[in-house]
Amino acid sequence: MAIDFTLTPELEDIRVRVRGFVDDVVRPGEDEIAATTGLSRQDYLRILLGMRKQAREVGLWLPHMPEEWGGMGLGHVELAMVQAEAAKTRLGPWVLNCQAPDEGNMHTLLHWGTEEQKEQYLRPLCEGTKASCFAMTEPEVAGSDPTLIQSRAYQDGDEWVINGHKWFISNAHRANFAILIVRTEDDPDLPQAANSAFIVDIPSEGWTEVREVETMHGSTGHSEIRIEDLRVAADKMLGGRGEGHLLGQSRLGPARLAHCMRWIAQAEMALDMMVDRALNRYAHGSLLAEKQGIQWMIADSTMELYQAKLMVLHAAYRIDNKLDFKSEVSMAKHFVANALGRIIDRSIQVHGALGYSTDTPLASMYQHARWARFADGADEVHQMRIDQRTIAAYKDTGSARTATGDLLL
Ligand SMILES: Cc1cc2nc3c(=O)[nH]c(=O)nc-3n(C[C@H](O)[C@H](O)[C@H](O)COP(=O)(O)OP(=O)(O)OC[C@H]3O[C@@H](n4cnc5c(N)ncnc54)[C@H](O)[C@@H]3O)c2cc1C
Repeated sequence: MAIDFTLTPELEDIRVRVRGFVDDVVRPGEDEIAATTGLSRQDYLRILLGMRKQAREVGLWLPHMPEEWGGMGLGHVELAMVQAEAAKTRLGPWVLNCQAPDEGNMHTLLHWGTEEQKEQYLRPLCEGTKASCFAMTEPEVAGSDPTLIQSRAYQDGDEWVINGHKWFISNAHRANFAILIVRTEDDPDLPQAANSAFIVDIPSEGWTEVREVETMHGSTGHSEIRIEDLRVAADKMLGGRGEGHLLGQSRLGPARLAHCMRWIAQAEMALDMMVDRALNRYAHGSLLAEKQGIQWMIADSTMELYQAKLMVLHAAYRIDNKLDFKSEVSMAKHFVANALGRIIDRSIQVHGALGYSTDTPLASMYQHARWARFADGADEVHQMRIDQRTIAAYKDTGSARTATGDLLL
């Protein structure tokens, strides 16, 4: 096996172009939005859609999708470098149409959708004319354990009738459709085979948005949904009966890693800001950068970011090469989410009161970093699975080696 961390000239060109596009188009667009008080919705959309139009014109559109769907046809390793550039701005991934949750839903529809479902739902997602959400978590039961899902569907002729309650459904407020996970099987062979997935048009009678949940990063983005006697045609089931869990898991692997790629961008921004501040702030006879306490914060953050990048690249390599990636994605998701929080926290510390203010993006980044430790799999659930696989590897082979990335060492 050749270990080669260099990029082909074509990919290096893409990376340079994404970076240039983010600097020349996305950042100025974001600045314009931030600087205009009382910006009308019309102007807001004009700026947003204008950026998307430009991304499409220069071929930086749908990096994660195959070319036949209008995408750039990149693998996960290659996608890592695009996401890690794009996510240095808040809107970058959205402008390139590779943002959560649409990105994960596109993968899901591509792999599980029928031809009709792909044309009706995947095509407009790829065109950027529709938005989607993924609705699984419920307030009444632990989201960490989807076998507990209570929302139910029963079949009535060639329709399914669904009742239930969901919350924290990202993007539901703006979405044109949802991929909804509910219980359809009463007595499955395996507890994981109780749920099925449905595509639900929004709006639909019986699908009610109760509110957008107020969170520590604001009041938009994540909705509570009541589902009452919602009728869905049988051909809107995505995948087969009882395959909802499987579909969720296969969606979450690459989607979790894509989060990690974007978190790397955020962590790198926080580290850059930390270094810049340390080089420019003077106290007690020297620059902060000359003080050992600050140097350790910079060094620890650098090492953690390096580990994060290697873990993401290796997990992406495993996905691209059709190798089992569950453990590697779990380890990456857990590590990068936690490293992100620590690095932003240190950067805030080095900035002092400025870091706590909203004059820099750090405060907002910190609020978002907090959810990374439990959304898409809580830390402890990933640790539980990693532990299970490590013990299984030891029992099977007499060593934990294969559970540690199955690397050459
Ligand atoms: C910003 C944000 C966006 C989200 N977007 C979506 C979305 O689009 N769609 C969607 O369906 N959901 C979404 N969620 C929900 C998210 O997926 C859930 O929060 C997550 O799955 C955890 O479920 P829970 O909140 O019910 O916590 P619980 O499952 O109740 O867990 C609470 C805590 O218990 C601990 N815990 C759980 N299991 C174990 C265990 N086995 N061992 C030890 N400790 C354990 C962990 O510390 C965990 O944090 C989002 C959440 C957030 C914050």
